[in-house]
Order: sequence, then structure tokens, then C-alpha cells
Amino acid sequence: VPSAEIVAVGTELLLGQLVDTNTAFIAQALAGIGMDVHGTHTVGDNRERIAELVGGALERADGVITSGGLGPTVDDVTKEAVCDALGAGTRVDGEAIEAMEALFASAGRELRENNRKQAILPHGATVLKNAHGTAPGFVAWRADGKFVACVPGVPFEMKAMVAGQLLPLLERHFHLRETIVTHTLHTFGIAESEIDHRIADLFEQSDNPKIAVLAHRFTCDVKLNGKAQNREEAQALIAPMADEIRARLGAVIYGSDSETLAFVVLQLMRERGERLGVAESCTGGLVSAELTAVAGASDVFVGGVVAYDNDTKTRVLGVPPKRIAEFGAVSGEVASDMAQGARTNLGSDWAVSVTGVAGPSGGTSEKPVGLVYAAIVGPYGVTAHRLQLSGERAQVQQRATIHALGLLWRRLRAEPKGARET
Ligand code: ATP
Ligand code: MG
Repeated sequence: VPSAEIVAVGTELLLGQLVDTNTAFIAQALAGIGMDVHGTHTVGDNRERIAELVGGALERADGVITSGGLGPTVDDVTKEAVCDALGAGTRVDGEAIEAMEALFASAGRELRENNRKQAILPHGATVLKNAHGTAPGFVAWRADGKFVACVPGVPFEMKAMVAGQLLPLLERHFHLRETIVTHTLHTFGIAESEIDHRIADLFEQSDNPKIAVLAHRFTCDVKLNGKAQNREEAQALIAPMADEIRARLGAVIYGSDSETLAFVVLQLMRERGERLGVAESCTGGLVSAELTAVAGASDVFVGGVVAYDNDTKTRVLGVPPKRIAEFGAVSGEVASDMAQGARTNLGSDWAVSVTGVAGPSGGTSEKPVGLVYAAIVGPYGVTAHRLQLSGERAQVQQRATIHALGLLWRRLRAEPKGARET
């Protein structure tokens, strides 16, 4: 199996100002075509150190993939460093110049000398066109068949180039016949240990697909990795195992692969022809943000209110002041009132509310940090749920968000439209 090392270029990465997400994407992409990744590295925008790192990686692996440092500025030196490492000369890519000229003309800008620098490529390199930006990528070859592939740092330019051009090229070059397909089942409201208990025997039996359980905030994923000659075969290996796991875990599985809780909630509500409103205190809009992150949310999600101050809970959501005085803003009673107020004032069929103590201060012995109430109101009434969440402020807020959506999902599943007379 051919191997590769990945190099992320950028001084910002070394300073901790930027989190390296490119390496994770490239690593997953290579796994998907059956290439082994034997090492990942980070290096600053320094010609000598990049050249040394790339040269060393080429001794160990069949190829190196770098991201970043292909731009027009003086600190972009990846290309020069790769030429140094390979002992390669350079050439100007006429097509890349033309593409840049067209792009700049359409934007009414003039092509500068430093942009032309981007069209200089190592001699003999294969060009990877950049559909979303100016800097082309390339694959430079060593005489022994080893390669250095360089892609831009901007994630969406990099992703399109890797998926659309680099992977097919590597598959052809190395005659790769193995692919790994991952199928993920998402669960809500079940502990990792309980999942483990229910499917432990499958774990042990099954080598292909490999099964892994991954705990993740309040949800837990079961991942199935199938390895085969092509996608279809890998999927065929995965399917019966996925069915078996669905049968065993059943009611706790809310979706698969890219489906989020917010996506599933919106989809279920859309099927019912119903709409959703939100009232948030301690999550400050995160529930609404999760919902609006889903494309096409507008036909279901009517809107959300961030009612942080008690006075806002009263004015905007109609929570009676005496209920706040009696039970406190962080209570099942006030959560229920907030949800009902949102449903009434926003005119939705359903509403979800969250109120709690996110911390780090503001906790009392009666209402400690991490105490959160979520309420769900729908056509058949209101339910309030008490949660005791752990973690620092941002985690409490995120967990509360996921939990609120999970509780809503459960009610949607348990209460089919028109199941009960009102
Ligand atoms: P440009 O033409 O924009 O200069 P480039 O190929 O030179 O592209 P860089 O200058 O290294 O790339 O990075 C551009 C931007 O891309 C960075 O500011 C950063 O936002 C993002 N980026 C770069 N490397 C990574 C990475 N490893 N992970 C996530 N984001 C990255
Ligand atoms: Mg740059």
C-alpha cells in the first residue's frame, strides 16, 4: 500500500492562531482511496525548513502533500522549497496566466507581477487547476516515481482540488484498488457504555467493516469502516452490519452520516407541515444557529428569541413576573412558560426553550453551574426537562443546545402528527 506524509505550511499554525483543519481533511481523503498516512507535520513559512521537511518525508514515504503557501506574497515559499527539495527547475504555466488574467479582468483588477509568480511551477509538474482562486496547485514528480503534491491553504479551494483532481490522479498513478467507505450512525440519549454493551459481540466478530464507537458531546456515533475494491462493494459490506446495529439500538438512532439533530428535527417537522420557534436564555442563540446552519431551514424555522434578562422573558415571551419570582428564572416552570410564549408569540406549532446556569459564576447550592432546563411545547402540550451538565461555559452551552434539540426530536418521533385527539 503506498504511503504519504502530510505537511501543513503556515507560521500562523505554529503560533496557534489558526487550527489546522486541512491536514484532517487530506488524511481522510487519502484513507478513502486506500493510501496510508505515516506522518503529519506542521512548518512555518520558511523555505529551508519546508525543503528539509519535504525532503525527509520523501525518504520515508511514496509521496508528500503540502497545503498552504502558494499565494502571491513574499511569505508564500512552498513552491520554491519544493523545487529545492526535488532539485527541480521551474517553468511558467501559460494556461495558469490566462486563467488569472480572465479572473482579474472579470473582477476589474489588474494582474500584478506577484500574481504571475503563482503561475511558476516546478518543471515537469502536473497542474491542479484552482476553480475557486488564483493559485494553481500541482504535483511534482521525482525520477523514482515519488511525488510532492502542493495545494492551496484556503480550505474550500484545497478541498475542491483534492477531491476533484488530486485523488483521481493518485488512484491512477498508484493503481489503487482499495477504498474505505465510512458509514456513521448517530445516537442521542444513550451512554457509550450501553452502546458497547449492546453491540460488543459485533465489535469482536467483525473485522471488515470495522466498528468503532465515538462519544461526542451528548450524542454518540457508531462508525462502520468498510474496505473493498470499490465504493459499491464497501457499501455492500457495511449495509447488513448497519441493519443489525439499527435493529439493536433502534430508537436511539436519529440519523446517519452528515445528518445533524437540527437537520433531522427540521425534516420531521417539514414532513408534518409544522413550524418551529425558539426561546433561549443561557444558550444565547445557539439553538437558532444550529437550525439555521441547515440549508432550507426557513420553511420550518420561524425564528428565535434570546430572552436573557428576566424583563425580556416577560415583555417578549409573556412569562408572568410572579412565576419568575416564585420559581426562579432557571426552573422547569419558567422554561415551560418561555416555550409556550414563543409558540404563541411567534405563531409556530412547536417551540423549544432553554434556561440555565452556564457558569463559571452565578451558581448556588440549589442551582449549581450546569443546571439547565429545556422545555418543548407542541400540539399536545408542554414538557420540561431538568439537565445537569458538566464542563466549562462554552461546553455547557453547547451541550444544552444539543440536548434541547435531542429532546425535541424524541417528542417528534413519539408523537406522530394527528396521533392524539386534542
Ligand atoms: P493564498 O493564495 O490565499 O495566500 P495560500 O496557498 O498561500 O493561499 P496560505 O497563505 O498558507 O495559503 O493560507 C491562506 C489561508 O488559508 C490562511 O490564512 C488560513 O485561513 C487558511 N489555511 C491555511 N492553511 C490552513 C490549514 N492547514 N488549516 C486550515 N486553514 C488553513
Ligand atoms: Mg498565502
